[in-house]
Amino acid sequence: KILKSKIKYLIAFVLTFFIYNCGTPKYADKLPLAGITLTIDPGHGNTEAYDSIRIGPSGEREEWINLRVALILRDLLQEAGARVIMTRETNRDLNLGGRAAIAKINNSDLFISIHHNGSLNDNELDFPLVYYWGDASENPASIKFANSLLEEMLTDMKFENTEGAGVYSDFLIYSEGTSVLRNTFPILPGIIGEAGYFSNSISEARMKDKNFNRLEAQSYFKAIIRYAANGLPKAIPMVTKTEDLIGDSLIIFKLTDGLGGHEFEASVFRVSANDTVIDFEWNDSSGELSLIYDNSYEVIEIKIYGRNLSGNSLHPRKWKFFSEIGKAKRWQGKWHEAFDRAESLSKDVNLIIESEKDSSEYMSQLLDMIHWYKRSIELQAHHPKSAAAELGIADLYKLLYYETQNVKFKEEALFHYRRTFEYCPGSIKESNAKTGYDELSSG
Ligand SMILES: [Zn+2]
Repeated sequence: KILKSKIKYLIAFVLTFFIYNCGTPKYADKLPLAGITLTIDPGHGNTEAYDSIRIGPSGEREEWINLRVALILRDLLQEAGARVIMTRETNRDLNLGGRAAIAKINNSDLFISIHHNGSLNDNELDFPLVYYWGDASENPASIKFANSLLEEMLTDMKFENTEGAGVYSDFLIYSEGTSVLRNTFPILPGIIGEAGYFSNSISEARMKDKNFNRLEAQSYFKAIIRYAANGLPKAIPMVTKTEDLIGDSLIIFKLTDGLGGHEFEASVFRVSANDTVIDFEWNDSSGELSLIYDNSYEVIEIKIYGRNLSGNSLHPRKWKFFSEIGKAKRWQGKWHEAFDRAESLSKDVNLIIESEKDSSEYMSQLLDMIHWYKRSIELQAHHPKSAAAELGIADLYKLLYYETQNVKFKEEALFHYRRTFEYCPGSIKESNAKTGYDELSSG
């Protein structure tokens, strides 16, 4: 049995070697992965001291196999023109959050985490698995690549019994999925590859063989080449920074199909804002997709689903936009700047009252002042003017209550009067607050 499987993979290896090495130069025209960034993550690393689980029957450690395969893959990808980011290149450990962060900060197009499987329960098992994150309908690009990868592994690596091989959601491992895929998913597609079981002694023996490691690396490589050949579609908002959208309710995305144009299957498009499907306009001649977002949200998360004509999907990455309200909430400055903003607005309020403008403008000014008084206290809990800010908030809510007769405003006003005299005892504001409280609660 051992001999048979060895011969099988040797034949496969020789064939692969032949296919990839006949004809020079290797890439006559354009490098097939030019312009593409891949993050390769060899799982684990330097865990000998405490991990006695991820180790084969003869002592080969999973993390060593992962690294050998990853280093060969790195070289193949670089030769093909890819920019390759490695989470590790030596036998060292790196936390899971760090691995995902490396993929994200480098604007990677694809995250590939290389692992091998182990079973404490059944040392006969040996088949490949590829994991993607979460729900299949939310992760089409990762699944497309995962399917190609599984096919290549099954074709080239010659597993004895492939029952159980497949592309699976990582929700099958953990209820919230794996850390690396959960944390890369909001930005880019990614997979975890598990090309066989090191807990199977026959499989462990071939995983120790560098030629077999190369065969495995070539499975990844071929799958990447196939995937990239169909284009990596992208949707990019037409602003320099997403946070610059303050006050704007129209967002335009520029779509590229990854094949030099912007041809998409129009019927597949879907756009969601905060997980609700919204309307959009698609212009197939300019490649622009326009949508209107609801300004009443503080933060709007836009996701675009689509597919190019070669069948490769846009990864529905999350684009975060801050509305005017959201932007104000996130405002960071000195407490006294926030306090001064509130004070200066009170002049505007007086002008509005004098000019007898409509009440909606008056109301929004009052709410604005409340916001800035509150922000000053949030930034610095006990600042020299916090009593004045609390009293200001209470008085403003009282005005809102008089304007609208909405009891919510009355409750807020009473709450902030109480805060003024409870939290700022002895201040000049204390007696004013008590007066305001008595007036309002009796009135
Ligand atoms: Zn692993």
